[in-house]
Amino acid sequence: MSDQAVNILLIEDNPLHAKLVVRLIEGEPQLRCTLQSAETLADGLAILHAGGIDLVLLDLVLPDSQELETFFRVHTAAPEVPVVILTAMDDLKLAATAVEAGASAFLVKSSLNAVALGRAIRYTLARARAHTAEWDSPMLRLAQQQFLKAAQIMGLDDNIRQRLLFPQRTQVVTFPFFRDDRAQVETVFGYRVQHVLTMGPTKGGVRYHEDVDLGEVAALATWMTWKCALMNLPYGGAKGGVRVDPTVLSSNELQRLTRRYTAEIIEFIGPDKDIPAPDMGTNEQVMAWMMDTYSQQVGYTVPTVVTGKPVVLGGSLGRREATGRGLVYMIEAAARHTGLDLNGAPAVVQGFGNVGSFTAKFLEEAGAKVIAVSDVSTGLYNPNGLSIRSLMDYVAENRVLKDYPEADHLTNAELLETKCDVLALAALQNQVTAENADRIDCKILAEGANGPTSLEADETLNEKGIMIVPDVLGNAGGVTVSYFEWVQGTQNLTWTLDEINGRLKQIMLDAFDRTVARAAKDGIDMRTAALVEGVQRVTEAKLLRGVFP
Ligand code: GLU
Repeated sequence: MSDQAVNILLIEDNPLHAKLVVRLIEGEPQLRCTLQSAETLADGLAILHAGGIDLVLLDLVLPDSQELETFFRVHTAAPEVPVVILTAMDDLKLAATAVEAGASAFLVKSSLNAVALGRAIRYTLARARAHTAEWDSPMLRLAQQQFLKAAQIMGLDDNIRQRLLFPQRTQVVTFPFFRDDRAQVETVFGYRVQHVLTMGPTKGGVRYHEDVDLGEVAALATWMTWKCALMNLPYGGAKGGVRVDPTVLSSNELQRLTRRYTAEIIEFIGPDKDIPAPDMGTNEQVMAWMMDTYSQQVGYTVPTVVTGKPVVLGGSLGRREATGRGLVYMIEAAARHTGLDLNGAPAVVQGFGNVGSFTAKFLEEAGAKVIAVSDVSTGLYNPNGLSIRSLMDYVAENRVLKDYPEADHLTNAELLETKCDVLALAALQNQVTAENADRIDCKILAEGANGPTSLEADETLNEKGIMIVPDVLGNAGGVTVSYFEWVQGTQNLTWTLDEINGRLKQIMLDAFDRTVARAAKDGIDMRTAALVEGVQRVTEAKLLRGVFP
């Protein structure tokens, strides 16, 4: 469902060498690669022409093509696909010339091992992305299209429109961290993007995921701006990220990565500047390390530099569950609005991380029957309702839902198309698209993830009369309780859980009511209405502050 495999094309005529590569890749599940093989250049080019290949592993000496000619023909067929040369020891010079001519790297076959191959693949893809795709992300296109649609409907001043389209500040860093063997140093890309500085400090999570790039972080920062403005929080939007797969790192590796990332962006963040929080792939522990690293640098403890910390370090009660809780408040409000009785209503939750698991739990508590859930490992289905307590216990022990016994298994596509009343999307972006939107069979679609629905899909869902609770409204519970955490921290207050949940509910219901009213008044869909509400507030503030100098 989530983590896309890397599609590798191996063009190699020597069966022994081909077998070795297949064995290394298959033995390295962390790489998450799928491999297609060809023994001749002609067969390789045919696969390449069919599309979908992310990287080519290429032997330059093939039955139907020799030496540099082989590289040039592959490179011309797909200039954007990076090529790693597989070379014999006595052909090193040729391989080096191919690298000069545009190949990404070469690997010597006689010393090929899983570590070398894995690193070559990871770094080649990272480089290709740095060269071509940092800003060019589907998520940024989506965030900008959504904004432009709202701007069009509001008749937004063109000066403001241009100002809000791209983030105000972006920081791109690369930094190293030691793997546990103390032999390998990984160098990774990190980002912190601040979209709008007009409203106060900037605010937003930090994401660790192997697909993170500048465009994705910029899109997420943009959504944070609209989300904070819609909730009337005194923040502009920000987001951070590191392009790394955290699931393959040990806790020590994660700690070293987090501390170095924090050190790299330290000038950018601060309790009055920009306040990070958890997002996908990060958690309370990561926030504790960030807070500690920042505090060590300034020389005293600064709990308010991050939110989503452990409670014992100044975190807020209710923050851990806040995004799921807020989403269920919004589902309840949407159900009241559409006249749906949640009692016994079949519900499906995509994603079983922090947001998905708490969404499922609170949906169950609200009386809904959660019939399907999923995570990156599998989907589970039980028409009589799943026990969320038991699923949470299972995940606490086994990390993922795979092999959970008391349910049928289903694919991500099947899960999304399962007939239900409430579909909560709490996994990744880009899940409901033009391709599957007409098969979505629910009454309320609630977005816990950021950007899970494409613009084309929105149109289809709206035509079908599905009530959408858009991400900037649906998942705003997280940043709202982050705001409570920051307020408590800056004023040395401690609020009770009831106070926190009560305030959260009040703020979110107010935003829901304003969104519904705006949608009705302007005859627009819920997402556009939520964005118009947010953009309006930011616009007003920008006009009042004026342009410096
Ligand atoms: N990462 C969360 C979001 O996307 C929370 C951000 C925060 O608490 O600052 O809304």
